[in-house]
Amino acid sequence: MMKTEKKMSIYLDNAATTKPCREAVKAVTDCMTENYGNPSSLHTKGLNAQLAVDNVRKIIARAIAADPACIYFTSGATESNNLAVIGAAGAYGKRKPKIVTTTIEHASIKRTMDHLEEMGYEIVRISPDRNGQITHEQIINAVDDTLKAALRPDTILVSVMMVNNETGYILPVRRAFYGIKKMFPQCITHTDAVQGFMKIPFKVSELNADIVSLSGHKIHAGKGVGALYLKKGIRLEQRIFGGSQEKGIRSGTENVPMIAGMGAAVKALCGNINQRYEKVQKLKNMLCQRLSEIEGVYINSGEECSPYIVNISVPGIRSEIMLHYLEERDIYVSSGSACSKGAKSGVLTEFGLNDRLADSALRISLCSENTVQELRILAENIEYAKERLLK
Ligand code: PMP
Repeated sequence: MMKTEKKMSIYLDNAATTKPCREAVKAVTDCMTENYGNPSSLHTKGLNAQLAVDNVRKIIARAIAADPACIYFTSGATESNNLAVIGAAGAYGKRKPKIVTTTIEHASIKRTMDHLEEMGYEIVRISPDRNGQITHEQIINAVDDTLKAALRPDTILVSVMMVNNETGYILPVRRAFYGIKKMFPQCITHTDAVQGFMKIPFKVSELNADIVSLSGHKIHAGKGVGALYLKKGIRLEQRIFGGSQEKGIRSGTENVPMIAGMGAAVKALCGNINQRYEKVQKLKNMLCQRLSEIEGVYINSGEECSPYIVNISVPGIRSEIMLHYLEERDIYVSSGSACSKGAKSGVLTEFGLNDRLADSALRISLCSENTVQELRILAENIEYAKERLLK
């Protein structure tokens, strides 16, 4: 009998979500079968569940050089971002002062800021400059200007993402927060570190961040789990009322299995962040080299971007058309960001892309498990697609 060859599925949408790693799946399953107690219960099963949660708190804290007491579990980065921004605004902004952010944030920050604006807060949004960059001076000046304008320390919060989820652009969070804290220590600094966590090593203290948002499913753990680093002494107004879990910062029974999975994923990844970065950088270089040989393909993610995200455009072929063409060949990429379900997010336009480039943008997002062969097949298919679809 002839052996049928298994079709190779090429997953290049890792910024949308990642395949859970073996360690995470095992930790989730073990926890669901053996350690199913409620951490709030007073008996041994409850205690064991609490111990499992606290163990992951330590693992995540170690990965970002933080105190485990500063790690709080949430349902994901959307909740972490909402909690950080609305919580800080509620705790420190009773007089509805200013908040500084950027125009390229994920929807979970962008829409939260819009909501606060409707509530009367003044939101200062920084756009990329003509070179498609947001500099640390721009961020510091935005805080400084708002302070000067108000003649009193009025900017309560600065929220700047670490890595943009559509282009991979790495923002100068470290330098900006350093400058801000030096001049205005009372201003709270928050970063949405979802696309940087476990990819770009960082220590919260060196980052000068008071609050950091993290997500599980972008780092090979399961969906529906995330964390918030909250520096000691920083207050957040409660958003969810209930049983006062997570020291009252986030009520609701902890998602113990998914938390266990997140811990296992962090443990599996944290020892080799730099090696994986280098590997993915080589993959990105190879892919960009190959794509640059195809006429009419534009690479929107420059060298200043994280190697894990490569945004390209093939003008004349709309993103969804190319996405489905590739999907038919078992290659999975994204148009813009998956969270916007293909709707234009406006972020690419903010980076200076014209409509033709923005309408044909594709996000190829890598993980260290991807191979040179997979990227060769992708490039080949993009080339075929261009020949067939542009006719
Ligand atoms: N911030 C960024 C930068 C993201 O890429 C995402 C996920 N697309 C989120 C926040 C939201 O994370 P979650 O899916 O865990 O809610």
